[in-house]
Amino acid sequence: MASLENFQSMFRGEIILPGDSAYEGARNVYNAMIDRHPRLIARCVDSADVIAAVNFGRENQMLVSIRGGGHNAGGLGVCDDGLVIDLSRMRSIRVDPANRTVRVDGGCTWGDVDHATHPFGLAVPSGIISTTGVGGLTLGGGIGHLSRKYGLTVDNLLEADLVLADGSFAKASAEENKDLFWAIRGGGGNFGVVTSFLFRGAPVKTIHAGPTLWPLGEAPRVMRWYEEFIRSAPEDLNGFFAFMTVPPVPVFPPELHGKKMCGVVWCYSGPREKAEEVFKPVRGSIPPAFEHVGEMPFPALQTFFDPLYPPGLQWYWKADFVGELRDEAIELHLDFARKLPTAHSTMHMYPINGAVHSVGKKDTAFNFRNVTWASVIVGVDPDPSSKDRIVSWAREYWQALHPYSSGGAYVNFLSDDEGQERVKATYGDNYGRLIEIKSKYDPANFFRVNQNIRKEA
Ligand SMILES: Cc1cc2nc3c(=O)[nH]c(=O)nc-3n(C[C@H](O)[C@H](O)[C@H](O)COP(=O)(O)OP(=O)(O)OC[C@H]3O[C@@H](n4cnc5c(N)ncnc54)[C@H](O)[C@@H]3O)c2cc1C
Repeated sequence: MASLENFQSMFRGEIILPGDSAYEGARNVYNAMIDRHPRLIARCVDSADVIAAVNFGRENQMLVSIRGGGHNAGGLGVCDDGLVIDLSRMRSIRVDPANRTVRVDGGCTWGDVDHATHPFGLAVPSGIISTTGVGGLTLGGGIGHLSRKYGLTVDNLLEADLVLADGSFAKASAEENKDLFWAIRGGGGNFGVVTSFLFRGAPVKTIHAGPTLWPLGEAPRVMRWYEEFIRSAPEDLNGFFAFMTVPPVPVFPPELHGKKMCGVVWCYSGPREKAEEVFKPVRGSIPPAFEHVGEMPFPALQTFFDPLYPPGLQWYWKADFVGELRDEAIELHLDFARKLPTAHSTMHMYPINGAVHSVGKKDTAFNFRNVTWASVIVGVDPDPSSKDRIVSWAREYWQALHPYSSGGAYVNFLSDDEGQERVKATYGDNYGRLIEIKSKYDPANFFRVNQNIRKEA
């Protein structure tokens, strides 16, 4: 068994123990509802540190979690009484403009990536908040503003470097360890610690983006119009639907502050001269209460929501994939939107169509490619005493709408209390192959602080 002294002698990063001044800050994650106390936090600076940490954890039979950006709603980057392999100091990025590729360290956030790629006129398709980690978001699939045009984040992944459960190092790509490459494109952190990702960069510099908002009472008409529109809209245009309470920030007119509304957040990444034409059907549809769509640098959209959702809020998530919006479901949505429990709470429906549909459901571990949306209900509030209120609203909303869903949910929108059946449903008929690959690369289920792929399920 490796001793702590031996581990320390091989480790260049920071080892943080309970009682150390850095411990409280290092064990906190984005969701303040998570309150876990690891036995040891190993803040790695390179792959050699990750190898040492994996070996130390395995030889001491410790529970091990991998922390990328620390954004996971269920707090899966941190564990109780175990070892946290913390990648937050591994943040380097190298853009190769000639080949339009971007090499990204395993602990980067999407804000790091946007900062590095934007001067080169490139972007890697990611999510909607810049503080989210590249590691967790990518390994679960990655859904965001560029999905309809460029696909999921995993559809833009070219290769990854991993430290496996036995401490060995492996590369996964279309040429090397093909099975592992298939599995990490949706299968989460089940297979190893990814120390480096190589992405294809998309030629995105400025975009036309922003929200269109309608009064909540118009939600049934808006949802019906939006469903038809987004099914056949040009792939250059992405737009996710949301219920929200308008925040009191200058971008919104004061008379709308505090009002519950529905809206769509657009991102058009096609040729500038066609933008006007693409937005014509939106502007000619149901008259909105507010529109704020304009040309902006891509990172401006990526950071649009950051100030509204800083780290340290209470979060509870429930999710489903959705194929169609039936009239009964729309009525239920409206009921629960009227009951949004706090100003930060919301419901989003992210399109899973356009370029996402051009990759087969068996081509990567991400199974639900034939649906229309990944929907997520999020109860959010700064005040810990609101916990019961936001949790029960999200659960009741989900229970009412789940019968109208397609079954599984986007793995990165699952909470940590969902149960194995939900994980299985999420991977559908890809689950069997995921188990085979898990048995090959991590037979002892060493990496299990995640939406776990395991045999007995
Ligand atoms: C405010 C907010 C907005 C979000 N928006 C989006 C969105 O627009 N689109 C979207 O797709 N998702 C979105 N998500 C969900 C997000 O993808 C997940 O929460 C994801 O798990 C976050 O990744 P992370 O690295 O920050 O998480 P962490 O909490 O650090 O880790 C989560 C899981 O990922 C694994 N993991 C992380 N890094 C690595 C690595 N390098 N190697 C191996 N395993 C690793 C860990 O094992 C752990 O199980 C959002 C989340 C939040 C909180």
